[in-house]
Amino acid sequence: MTTAAQQNAMMLASLLGVGEDEAAEQLDRTVLLTAEAGWKSDWALELARVLERTLHVVTEDDGSGCNLEIVIGKVDGRSTGRAIFADLDASGLLVGKESKLLSGSKPHGLYGAAAACAVSAVAIHSAIGAAALPEVRLPMKFNFADLGVPPGALEREIVLRDAFVAGAGAVAHGFLHAARHLVLSGTLTVVDPKTVKEGVLNRCLYLEPEDIGSDKAAALVGRAKTDFAGLALVADPRDLREVLKGRTRPPETVFVTVDSRATRRSIQNEFPHTTIDASTTDVSGVIVHSNSLPTAHACLACIYSHVPEEHSRERAIAAGLGVDLDVVRKGFIDADAAGTINKKYPQIDPDAIVGSAFDSLFRQLCAQQALTTPEGRQILAPFAFVSAWAGILMAVEMLRTFNGECSTNYWRVDPWNLPIARARVMRKKLAGCQFCFNPDTDGLISSFGW
Ligand SMILES: [Zn+2]
Repeated sequence: MTTAAQQNAMMLASLLGVGEDEAAEQLDRTVLLTAEAGWKSDWALELARVLERTLHVVTEDDGSGCNLEIVIGKVDGRSTGRAIFADLDASGLLVGKESKLLSGSKPHGLYGAAAACAVSAVAIHSAIGAAALPEVRLPMKFNFADLGVPPGALEREIVLRDAFVAGAGAVAHGFLHAARHLVLSGTLTVVDPKTVKEGVLNRCLYLEPEDIGSDKAAALVGRAKTDFAGLALVADPRDLREVLKGRTRPPETVFVTVDSRATRRSIQNEFPHTTIDASTTDVSGVIVHSNSLPTAHACLACIYSHVPEEHSRERAIAAGLGVDLDVVRKGFIDADAAGTINKKYPQIDPDAIVGSAFDSLFRQLCAQQALTTPEGRQILAPFAFVSAWAGILMAVEMLRTFNGECSTNYWRVDPWNLPIARARVMRKKLAGCQFCFNPDTDGLISSFGW
């Protein structure tokens, strides 16, 4: 089993309460995609790009060896086994156990990408077929208008100036993969100080096995830039704080895709004019938040306020790797920490782990511990479609923010079902927020002229 497949198996094992080997067997499923000729076949490839990070996907097959067939549009199925039927047009997507056809024209690319996430969830649920998986309600009727994109925003150019993506992990991949369907210009700098580890291949949509060992930011930018004709994508192998050190003004826009709550809070302290954030909670939830300073509503530090579980997660990592809690809180493994870990795990080459995140190494070394404790489970990596959903929602939030639609600042979505428009809310400031209620905050914000 590759490390990427192992990440999926660990996630599924945790969901089903079974061992990792049994979960790996459950994931050894093949999905056949059969699509109507034309743009629906092109869309099937968009679906395959997300789904193939979790299950085997084939398009050229007689169907005899597949566990599930997804029949897309007006076309005959090729297998005799289980089938799911999907069809989409410019306004929506239908998925169910019976074939129901739509007659409209091709959807916008961003909507097509969102539909691919929705069908991936159905496919994984149907192919694995375990009752312990989160429920998927069929038939599924996805009205793309529920995403809340303002009228005309899909076609309107967005000019990014002094804009950064913090983190080059799965959500950043999902974001660029979604945003490639939009009209972006200007410059966008992707910052991440880490290198690509094999385990992330299960969810980083642009990465290929040969990227292992490269800088994460450079690998993402290198793969994605051909998708952005009008936008200069730049990679920087440092963390955002380093990149911004010594500047007199905060950045204009930061897209936040980092892992930890503490790092998110620290990014708000850099005072980005506009912050757009998306995150995943194992496979159960996707959250998107935005704010533009000055704001009368929640900031990133309000949304990701300190919670007791942060300590237990850090403690689980510290105990598993044999390092001090304070060292884990730094986020990245330095040379000293690498030496300490090497004493407990002599098979680990300390030079190879310097610069890695403690979370990632913990996942690799302490699989059993990660599976059996609630603290460990928080560290498991989601399936690719969950991160892809986070990327779609971040792209939608960008469209809303840049087109003046600021009536909500928070949306939690169940990735196994459809986004519910009425679940969008305006979160209030959290009493005692370290950013909002810092006596210096308002003065600094007005000193920037915002
Ligand atoms: Zn706040």
